[in-house]
Amino acid sequence: MTAPGSGRQVSGRQGGGPGGRQNAKAAMSIDVEDWFQVENLKEVVARDTWDERDLRVERNTDRMLEIMSDHGVTGTCFILGWVAEKCPGLIKRIADAGHEIASHGYGHDLIYSLSHDEFREDIKRGMGIVQDITGAKINGYRAPSFSITDWAIDILAEAGITYDSSAFPTVAHDRYGKLSGMRAGVPIQEIRPGFHEVCVSVLKLGKKGVPWAGGGYFRLFPYPLFKRGVRRILSSGTPYVFYIHPWEIDPDQPRMSGLKRSHAFRHYNNLGRCDARYSALMGDFEWCTMRELLDDALERGGVMPLGEQAPQPA
Ligand SMILES: [Zn+2]
Repeated sequence: MTAPGSGRQVSGRQGGGPGGRQNAKAAMSIDVEDWFQVENLKEVVARDTWDERDLRVERNTDRMLEIMSDHGVTGTCFILGWVAEKCPGLIKRIADAGHEIASHGYGHDLIYSLSHDEFREDIKRGMGIVQDITGAKINGYRAPSFSITDWAIDILAEAGITYDSSAFPTVAHDRYGKLSGMRAGVPIQEIRPGFHEVCVSVLKLGKKGVPWAGGGYFRLFPYPLFKRGVRRILSSGTPYVFYIHPWEIDPDQPRMSGLKRSHAFRHYNNLGRCDARYSALMGDFEWCTMRELLDDALERGGVMPLGEQAPQPA
């Protein structure tokens, strides 16, 4: 472990190498939740109907574990407490396979829709269920639909969380939360003493950043294009964070009608292609856990200490 707040020199990059070499670490992460818990489906799936829904998260996550195992990959699973309650055996299998276990809260409510006390209760409950199953302390957190906000950081730190991975640093989105003090071009930042934000990746295209970390974007772009973007991020020496959900490799999940077109597109686009793409991605790069990525960045000094001047993105 590296001492927090040690004020190392800033460097988000380690000097891009030739030939698209992987000059930085790439972290693989899965947000372990089921298809009916997704924000895009909230308009047609009432919260109190979750118990009646076709529970598919276990078989889908097992399939992802199989793909990762085939490629010798260990990553980080951000577990929803509700899922852990229903599928304790799955959580045990994830931990036994050597993946890092992190928290995705309990009920998948957008953080800014909760009061401080409700959020405190959600994180405590979600972490408690998972920690009781694995017997190991949780360090990492990812907010439902990336809805992180400033006040939530203090509550996470109070609960024993040491890093959050919920921020897209440069891209506006209708639903993503924002953290104050985040700087463009700096993927890992110490935002409180001993507490780090490990940003979900964006690809810089001109002056703009495009989310290039997974989810709908991974299914939207043709795979060779997506892969080139990941290669570009890594060859510049910038750490890369990828995320995916178990339901994204499941084209046979129940199809809901009555959705807004944009929500239906985001949720259902290219589900049938995702299993093969995920497998290809596992083989095309070297992957590690979020914790390993953070520790490596701390060791290399690739972290923005509190209060230091940000480097200008190239
Ligand atoms: Zn989620």
